[in-house]
Amino acid sequence: MAEKIKVYLKIRDDLQKEEDNERWEVDKNNLKQILSEKEEIVHNYFDRVFLQETNKNIFEESLVQSLHNLIEMKKSSTIFAYGQTGTGKTFLMMGNEGNEGIVKRFLKEIYERQKERGYKVKLSFLEIYNEKLIDLFNEKNEPKFYSNKGELQIENLENKVVNSLQESLDLIKTAEIKRRTEKTDFNLRSSRSHTIFVIELSKNNKKEILTLIDLAGSEKPSQISDRRKEGAFINKSLLALGNLITNMNETPHLNYRDSKLTRVLEPSMKREVDLIAFCLISPLKKFISESLRTLSFSSRLSEIKMNFKPSKIQKNEDINLCECEEEKEKLKTEILRKEIKMNEINEEINSLRNKYEDLLSNFINENEEKDLLKKRIQNLERMINKITETFPQSKLKDIFLIEKGLFNLKMEDLNKNIKNAKKIKHEKSYDF
Ligand code: ADP
Ligand code: MG
Repeated sequence: MAEKIKVYLKIRDDLQKEEDNERWEVDKNNLKQILSEKEEIVHNYFDRVFLQETNKNIFEESLVQSLHNLIEMKKSSTIFAYGQTGTGKTFLMMGNEGNEGIVKRFLKEIYERQKERGYKVKLSFLEIYNEKLIDLFNEKNEPKFYSNKGELQIENLENKVVNSLQESLDLIKTAEIKRRTEKTDFNLRSSRSHTIFVIELSKNNKKEILTLIDLAGSEKPSQISDRRKEGAFINKSLLALGNLITNMNETPHLNYRDSKLTRVLEPSMKREVDLIAFCLISPLKKFISESLRTLSFSSRLSEIKMNFKPSKIQKNEDINLCECEEEKEKLKTEILRKEIKMNEINEEINSLRNKYEDLLSNFINENEEKDLLKKRIQNLERMINKITETFPQSKLKDIFLIEKGLFNLKMEDLNKNIKNAKKIKHEKSYDF
């Protein structure tokens, strides 16, 4: 069985409205580059092209299979984001307030099912900058490579057992705040470093790993001399990554030693791991040459098959069994996808329920306010009547009339609000 690397393209949709845009169109899973009325180039090597889709859509449409393989302890996955700086790699991986990235979405689903499936979760978070490894969970650590029974491993790297979603989110938040505040020129540095988030699930001596990589910007290195060193390192590691992936098709022994990035990825870049690449481009015309470089890298990736060799020759019955198993796995993934959607719908229902309850309590408050106002008006009437009886001057009567008119207006206003609230309540009357 030879499985292809999954290659997805994402165009930064929030820039689509900019005037000086290249014309990209999406037609099914193809990307069309419109050159003129009559000319277009079709890029048809993607598993899927995402344009307006949110991180949530992307997760549901392309990553549930990996989630399934992971929580069922069947297969590890390695997911990376490749593209020029500013195309949205970090946004896709980490997201922002109100738009969770895929790292958090994986964590959420993994922890939601932890009790039921009984796996242990370990996390690590590291950065490679100028060919140096930095442990983002504990910067005092100095991670180093060592060889264990012929396998390359990293020592002095925090690999934390984390038992809840909240704990994992807190760890990420702390690491991100530290990175932002302690490093000068954070943006420049983050575009020049690779960040790697590793989620390790273990159960009954089995271990599966999900590796999520936010790669350094793939743009050509700057000509400014003090940046050349970083640029050369980035080029070296992206080139080594490209070579490693390309060689998966051909060479029996893969070479991980060409860069720190590929060395770190040795356990997650085996042939039996699911590889998923997100290639990101900007729609802006001025970046067209970088976008074309990314497209060319994507096209190379899409041709690579992961050579997964079954250890024995299968008999016919085995093949039937195999097909059945495959079908079963597909169905299970579909169930998982539906489950994730159901959970989201439930969350939406809960938030609507809260809004409804807020509305209802406002409605009750308004009614109470109305009664209070009525009482105040009556009191005032009584007071003014008393005063006018004692001092029968017409001026006071006028004041009373004005005051009464004013309060009646307020009452009318309130009644209108109540009517509105009733209307909204009627529109949103769900069967809870
Ligand atoms: P990269 O990591 O590729 O350099 P970023 O993820 O940092 O790019 O994105 C650059 C900027 O664009 C950030 O401010 C980010 O919030 C914003 N951005 C990227 N993609 C999107 C998107 N799909 N929707 C809204 N904002 C986005
Ligand atoms: Mg980034």
